[in-house]
Amino acid sequence: MKKHNFSAGPCILPQDVFKEASQAILDFNDSGLSILEISHRSKDFVDVMEESRNLVLELLNLEGKGYKVLFLQGGASLQFLMVAYNLLEKKAGYLNTGTWSDKAIKEAKHFGEVIEVASSKEKNFNYIPKGYTIPEQLDYLHCTSNNTIFGTQMKTFPVTDAPLICDMSSDIFSRTLDFTKFDLIYAGAQKNMGPAGTTMVVVKEDILGKVSRHIPSMLDYQTHIGKASMFNTPPVFAVYTSMLTLRWIKENGGVAAMEEQNEKKAKLLYSEIDLNPLFKGFSATEDRSNMNATFSLIEEDLKETFDAMWKDAGINGLNGHRSVGGYRASMYNALSLNSVAALVDVMSDLERKA
Ligand SMILES: *Cc1c(COP(=O)(O)O)cnc(C)c1O
Repeated sequence: MKKHNFSAGPCILPQDVFKEASQAILDFNDSGLSILEISHRSKDFVDVMEESRNLVLELLNLEGKGYKVLFLQGGASLQFLMVAYNLLEKKAGYLNTGTWSDKAIKEAKHFGEVIEVASSKEKNFNYIPKGYTIPEQLDYLHCTSNNTIFGTQMKTFPVTDAPLICDMSSDIFSRTLDFTKFDLIYAGAQKNMGPAGTTMVVVKEDILGKVSRHIPSMLDYQTHIGKASMFNTPPVFAVYTSMLTLRWIKENGGVAAMEEQNEKKAKLLYSEIDLNPLFKGFSATEDRSNMNATFSLIEEDLKETFDAMWKDAGINGLNGHRSVGGYRASMYNALSLNSVAALVDVMSDLERKA
């Protein structure tokens, strides 16, 4: 039986996507060939790339606005480096809202001055900093829209003249935003978009080509733009499966419909966390993530009972990250309201038993 999968990533994808992707491994587009054995230069695969790019722009409402879409490898972690390699000439600003921002800062320091504009590190990243001043003359400002590990999410974004760069790995396609405010968005596919193995980059072309350093080909966004993400062999299956998920989002009402559903799921779980006297939330209420809810038991001695109960209910992937402890329920687009209800039932059962 299919589990209620709350895993933080790689994560649940729509069941229909799994089915269609499996079929394509056996026979892709009735070609008598597997998606895994065709040339990435074949028309069939070139069409997959093109449709994927178009769907990204359409779903983010960025068509005809000067953006290019890339499907790269190396994960969001390589983007920590590539962003700075391509854009950092003198100094860049970073909002430090979690482990991933911290890692992005570390990579950027190879290329220039990094100003930590604001940080919530002193409280183990349980909130999003506010009311900070953004320095002038930044090459760019970098932020992380959703902090997967800590369960916080930016509800508003900084206003600055500098290009705004955002790591949206764990909430891309989960909510509507004015995406034109961002000059570069990147996201590892495995959180809300597809299997591990590809990273989507959406970049406004006019911010590129401004640094004076020489950029090695594989690390230069312009190389990949020039070759339509086919400078080297792309991760064919990861891109194909991402395309299927993007189609699924579109067929199911687009990002706005995902957002509506995600809000319902988050409301259901957070109200249980707030009302059930056995549990407490980790992150500041106003900054709570609709994607990753972090919480814990108030009495640790109930842990064994609770763990056995949720496992019995067919729930998977609920253990918190080691830097937070407790539990983390990741509620990406493909997770149904029904699965969240199953978790909430277990939590209230525990209250009745305890
Ligand atoms: C998972 C995650 C990353 C790291 O992604 P990789 O693809 O494993 O490199 C970076 N940023 C955020 C916000 C993430 O959730």
